[in-house]
Amino acid sequence: MNDCIFCKIIKGEIPCYKIYEDQHALAFLDIACDCYGHTLVIPKQHCTNVLDCNEQSLQGVISAVQKVANHFVNNCGFSGVNILNASGQSAQQSVFHLHFHVIPRKEGDNLDLWPLHGKQQLNLAEVCQHLKLN
Ligand code: AMP
Repeated sequence: MNDCIFCKIIKGEIPCYKIYEDQHALAFLDIACDCYGHTLVIPKQHCTNVLDCNEQSLQGVISAVQKVANHFVNNCGFSGVNILNASGQSAQQSVFHLHFHVIPRKEGDNLDLWPLHGKQQLNLAEVCQHLKLN
């Protein structure tokens, strides 16, 4: 995609701080600088998000997510990761080239990437009826 900022990073037209690259995926630091090591992992083949990604590309990018996550934990002094994805504008996606955020975590790092939402009055049987796939 010509006007896609992440495609431009893949093509080397825009610089990035590369963490990992293979045949299917590229991982680089998020410019937000909001938490240490915030990394984006993207497929090399353009797709908008999880909803339209082809299976091979999705497998490739998830495999790269796992490699980066294991590297952070095994070699970089972290003990866990958060893996986040926004697919769609309503889900707060802002760059429309599939990406997974990988955020390395340590005990006591004071980040809250899994906020509590309190309780709703939900009839889980009805929710399940609405949402089940088969
Ligand atoms: P999302 O809101 O899930 O679509 O995340 C998009 C992310 O891309 C944001 O966290 C941005 O900080 C990040 N971002 C945008 N442009 C760049 C860039 N040129 N290099 C690295 N990260 C970027």
